Amino acid sequence: AKARGKNTYRFFSQELNDAANERLLIESQLREAIREQQFILFYQPKIDLRTETLVGYEALIRWLRPDNTLIPPARFIAVAESTGLIVQIGEWIILEACRFLARQVSRGYAVTVSINLSARQFHDNNLPGMIERIIKRTGVAPTALVFEITESMLMGDTDAAIKQLNQLKRLGVSLSIDDFGTGYSSLSYLKRFPVDELKIDRSFVKDIPDDQNDMDIVAAIIAMAQKMQLRVVAEGVESAAQANFLKQNACYLVQGYYFSMPLAEQELSHLTFTIKT
Ligand code: C2E
Ligand code: CA
Ligand code: CA
Ligand code: CA
Repeated sequence: AKARGKNTYRFFSQELNDAANERLLIESQLREAIREQQFILFYQPKIDLRTETLVGYEALIRWLRPDNTLIPPARFIAVAESTGLIVQIGEWIILEACRFLARQVSRGYAVTVSINLSARQFHDNNLPGMIERIIKRTGVAPTALVFEITESMLMGDTDAAIKQLNQLKRLGVSLSIDDFGTGYSSLSYLKRFPVDELKIDRSFVKDIPDDQNDMDIVAAIIAMAQKMQLRVVAEGVESAAQANFLKQNACYLVQGYYFSMPLAEQELSHLTFTIKT
């Protein structure tokens, strides 16, 4: 039994070691990335199909390594989250996104900026105060800021979540539920949360117009959002057919590769949309 236990241990420990080592490596590299300011925000346009104008941007983080490789958030956000480094990185994201917004406004562009919050960040009691300080420091209008959270962050201690949402709302910012439809929130649940916007997850958009089931779901989410007087945004729009379907079903706010990939700030001037001023 001892021998088997040992073998079992060795078998698992090797895998655990690899995973743990990988995590440790990413963690130490992330600390260095924070020190050396290796993060960069990309911005994806949010379009209003009624006017075909650019109405805002979603800030999306990337990690630009010294060797010039661009690491997507899927490769490091989870480690940043589990190590708590996300709090520091997250503060930088909010400051940087607000500075970007201030620059856009100073050029005469009336745009909003959407910022993704991670679970740890959202549950941090210091978050509202931190956002308030950044708003003051950068001079941006809080009404031009949208904070995106996911359904799963609202589960668990819902009273605490509602309290935090209300603290954020008091700042004058808007709140959006990201990846809507992929979590487990029921409608009665949703009604309790003081949010302004729903973002339909890409997984429901990607097979339009081939998947009738997905089209029914998307139409139902749009109708529900309207009933609840929530703004509705579709993400991951990659084709004219998808954009047309959304427009016909009265979902006018869209993001996706069909309009633009997320771009570095210096590339945004090449965009051909009309920008509302
Ligand atoms: P998300 O918030 O759902 O962001 C949308 C993702 O879909 C982005 O990937 C975006 O580049 C991608 N995307 C946009 N349009 C299309 C499309 O038409 N087709 C396809 N296939 N993809 C599209 P990205 O930038 O790699 O971000 C992945 C996830 O990482 C985000 O999902 C978000 O959960 C997280 N993330 C990104 N930036 C931040 C950040 O600043 N803070 C936090 N906490 N999380 C972030
Ligand atoms: Ca998002
Ligand atoms: Ca999303
Ligand atoms: Ca998504």
